[in-house]
Order: sequence, then structure tokens, then C-alpha cells
Amino acid sequence: MKIIRYTALIAALIMPLMLVACVGAPGAESSTHPVITAPEPETLPPITPVDTSDGPETTEPETTEPQTTEPQTTEPQTTEPQTTEPQTTEPEKDPDPLGFKEDLSAYEKYMDPEDRDGYLILVNPSNPVGKDHKPTDLEPLVDTRPDRSKRYMRLYAAKSLEAFLKEARANGCKDVTVTSAYRSYDSQKEIFDGDVKKLMEKGYSEEEAIAIERKDTAYPGESEHQTGLAVDMHNLGAASQRFAETFEAKWLEENCWKFGFILRYMPDKEDITTYVYEPWHFRYVGRYHAKRIYDLHMCLEEYIEYLENNG
Ligand SMILES: [Zn+2]
Repeated sequence: MKIIRYTALIAALIMPLMLVACVGAPGAESSTHPVITAPEPETLPPITPVDTSDGPETTEPETTEPQTTEPQTTEPQTTEPQTTEPQTTEPEKDPDPLGFKEDLSAYEKYMDPEDRDGYLILVNPSNPVGKDHKPTDLEPLVDTRPDRSKRYMRLYAAKSLEAFLKEARANGCKDVTVTSAYRSYDSQKEIFDGDVKKLMEKGYSEEEAIAIERKDTAYPGESEHQTGLAVDMHNLGAASQRFAETFEAKWLEENCWKFGFILRYMPDKEDITTYVYEPWHFRYVGRYHAKRIYDLHMCLEEYIEYLENNG
């Protein structure tokens, strides 16, 4: 289009000059051209302003357009939603507050039971459990000492104990196994009567023998082993206070609350519990109460009274 317009312009400019040259030229041929004279210069003005004005106006926007589009395309490339995604995942990483080495997530509902107060039963000489009491949810313990018949605890206690000893092994405790757990009334009576008989054979009267035996062994119906919530465990040939000196006993005592257990008979609570220190005897109450009992350094008798006085 521009080429055509420029040639038309050039032709329009040249034509009058040619006419002038022809008209003004000396010689005999000037008489043959007078017909082509006046009207053509009038067509020139409308052509020239249109061509010059169109040119610069159309070229300027063509150069500026690419510069403005480039920043627009780079902005969507820095899509910030990708950087915000990790921020939303951070809250999902729940650091294990108890620092377990083993994955004990499957045991959590047992260690920290929904029925928080359902395992706070207190059994002692002043609170006998009764001859006919027998739990209905007893489960065999996987950590029963191999040379013993299978020991049992109530479901929540049994599962929590399994987690307890798994984590104990992961932390270097060796050969801690269960020697006793649930005891029926009849088995308690059999053990107690057998021990009394041995004492009487040594010369004690029946009354003296029973008094001596009651310091070490619960009278039938008074043992919390009958609840299915108590367990004896250690790595010695027989239960002994020497166990307290081992690494295993110290680890179990310091960490038992994490699994819902308490050390039931502490050395400085003998006057209250009426039992000597038993570093091998642990009692399940659930983590909520176990932690409070551990932090308060109370025996179960003190804690039950504490709850009654403090709501
Ligand atoms: Zn025991």
C-alpha cells in the first residue's frame, strides 16, 4: 500500500514539472500539448497528508507492545501457591511428645483410654475386691516368661504392657518378662495358705504365720492382681528388691506412666500401702492418671484421697 501511494505521489509531483518543461520548452513541438493543462494539481493536497500521518502512528505501537507483554508472562511463572503448600503440611507433623523409639501408634488408644476413670479401682486390705470378682476381658500376655503358664491381664492393660516392654527393649532393657499378672481368688488362697503352712512348719503359730505372710503376700480377695490390672515383671530368677539396682528397673520406674502404669508399691510409701517396696510390681490406671500420680509422687491410696478432696 505504501509503495503504491508513494509512486502516485511521485507521479503527481513530476507531472506538473514535465508540463512546465514541455510548455516552456523552445521549439516547434509546444503547439501540440496545450490540451493537458490546469486540473491535475488540485488532486495533490489530499494524497500527501494521508500518507505521512499514517506511517509514524502505526509503527510506534508495534515496538512498544512486546515490551509490555513480557512482564505479564513472567508473573504467572512465579506461581506462589507452590511455595505455600509446604506451610500447610507443617502442622500435620506432630512431633512425638513422649519420644518413643518404636512406632506405638496402634497402642495409643489402650495406653490413653477413652474411659479415663474406668481403671482407678483401689484394692488393698481395707478395700478387698471380693471372692467372686473376675474380669471378663482377660487377654494372654505375649511377654509371659517362657517357663511359666500363660499370664493374663485385662485387654487395655495387656495391650499397654505389650507397648511398654517393646519400648523397654528398644531402650536397652534386657530379658524383662512377666512372672505374674491376673490371679483368681482361688489361686491367691492357694499361694497364701501354702506359705502359711511353711511358716507353721518352722514353728510359728497360725496367727503369727498369717501376720508374717500378709506383709509379703495379699490376703485372698485383697490382692489387686485379682483385678487383672497388676503385673509382676523383672529379669531375675525370683522377685527380689535387688531388681531395683538394675538399669531395667530404673527405666521401667521412670517411664511407666507413658504407657499408663504406675509403680504401685514405692519404698517411701510402705506405711500407707502396708506393702514393702516392690520394684517389679506395676499397676495399670491409664496414662492420664498415671502421669498425675507420677508427677505428684503419690501412691494410689494418696491419689484417690487427693481426687476426693480436690474434685
Ligand atoms: Zn505383684
